[in-house]
Amino acid sequence: MINVKNISKSFGNVSALHNVSFEVDEGELFGVIGPDGAGKSTLFRIIISLLLPDAGTISLWGKSPVTDYRDIRRMVGYMPGRFSLYEDLSVEENINFFAAVFGTTLQENYELVKDIYQQIEPFKKRPAGKLSGGMKQKLALSCALIHKPRFLVLDEPTTGVDAISRSEFWEMLQKLTGAGITILVSTPYMDEASLCNRVALIQKGEILDVASPRQIVEGFKGLLFGVSGGNMYHLIRQCRTFEKVASVYPFGEELHLTFQDGYDYSSELSDYLKKNGHPDAIIKRINPNIEDRFMALMHTEQDTS
Ligand code: ADP
Repeated sequence: MINVKNISKSFGNVSALHNVSFEVDEGELFGVIGPDGAGKSTLFRIIISLLLPDAGTISLWGKSPVTDYRDIRRMVGYMPGRFSLYEDLSVEENINFFAAVFGTTLQENYELVKDIYQQIEPFKKRPAGKLSGGMKQKLALSCALIHKPRFLVLDEPTTGVDAISRSEFWEMLQKLTGAGITILVSTPYMDEASLCNRVALIQKGEILDVASPRQIVEGFKGLLFGVSGGNMYHLIRQCRTFEKVASVYPFGEELHLTFQDGYDYSSELSDYLKKNGHPDAIIKRINPNIEDRFMALMHTEQDTS
């Protein structure tokens, strides 16, 4: 069980983390979701004892990363954001190296890594630097697992990886939690949040919310609309000039939009757009997703800060 309490960290005058608190339960797949620069890597590096916080405390099953870092390093498997294996060593040599560091062998922990390792085993003689993104990710996960950690910390493991490898990777994580491993994983991809048991939304070093993906979406108050038709760039500019619009942002092929006080001014907006160069604009009520809630929370933060 992981307890992160009031963690703050600054680099010079950049506040990377401010008063961050949350708990992760045993066996949970817990996601930290936020854009680039939100503080995810800094938080993870503090949790696994690679960086000291300026304030706050962390406990991993009663151990502190500050004072018990030897225990922590044995208990944790860490996959950093950037590929950190030895590119000129082969797949097999990388695995053997990480196993040796922890005084174990691939054979000893084969059951745990087998599902993942079998997918890269045909390339075991290939230098790690010559693997595809998805394969590198599987090798890095195998190396992080080789000493049977009870806690896996994965920093943006799916960034820059193709969609199929991403979904395979999430399936593997779900299997690992089934084997009793607790997982803390960060991602900038909002759609991956729904694959976690619970998530913390983080922005500019502050936690905006901690809840299950479903509860996060249910927290969206008011009405959400999708707007499409015509040139998106002009459409978003035009929507912004309509005074009853509270927020509008691009989402795939359309715009997502809310009105002041959560009301429905869609017919007024439709008339306004028609008069202002968007005769084909279509506005319809849509259901919010996690990203919409994130945008709404960011909006509230900006209004109150
Ligand atoms: P994320 O992982 O969410 O992209 P980071 O934790 O890497 O975010 O960064 C959070 C903030 O702290 C950013 O503004 C980043 O520029 C800053 N930062 C992170 N590490 C350092 C460092 N070693 N020195 C100075 N600033 C840093």
